[in-house]
Amino acid sequence: MAIKTTAITILSMMLLASVSYGQTSKNNKAMKHELPALPYATDALEPAISKETMELHWGKHLQTYINNLNNLVQGTKFENADIETISKEADGAIYNNGAQAWNHKFYFDTFSPNPKKAPTGKLAEAINSTYGSFEKFKEEFEKQGAGLFGSGWVWLSKDKNGKLVITQESNAGNPLRQGYTPLLGLDVWEHAYYVDYRNRRADHLKKVWDVIDWAVIEKRF
Ligand code: MN
Repeated sequence: MAIKTTAITILSMMLLASVSYGQTSKNNKAMKHELPALPYATDALEPAISKETMELHWGKHLQTYINNLNNLVQGTKFENADIETISKEADGAIYNNGAQAWNHKFYFDTFSPNPKKAPTGKLAEAINSTYGSFEKFKEEFEKQGAGLFGSGWVWLSKDKNGKLVITQESNAGNPLRQGYTPLLGLDVWEHAYYVDYRNRRADHLKKVWDVIDWAVIEKRF
């Protein structure tokens, strides 16, 4: 029994050591941000989002934001901050890369190969009372996404009074900065759709509803 307990204790210590090693770099105490795992295979969202786009978007673009962030935060007051705090408080390059890290995890977590295709319950009620219907909401969201000039994001959020709002944000912008609760964020940077849809951003936005999981968005609401 004693031997077994000791073995378990040693195993736990090894496990703890490996966990903390994963989050901490060897030379300083800075937290190391890592590429978040995808909750599905890279080809799981086809044809709405191709495997090639996922490999580039998740595997290359997001990895670059995370690498940049890890380099930039060293020796700053953000070296142990999580990406939500960085999104709310940082400026300049740390903000750009930290907010993009936050936005992309939020974005990739929204999708599923077997999504709940429409909201129900309280979220459905809020969408209907704000936009008239789910179809009208989708039209408005697509319009804001297609109409955003340059690179950025279109968001559905809950504002401080609990009201639904659609906002456009340039570059890495997200609604955390305004104290909103983000519910859905779609990336309208060209890297999100150009491989699959070329210049047709509006077509991408129309098609991407096929893989958006409203069960996830209901939980955020
Ligand atoms: Mn992106």
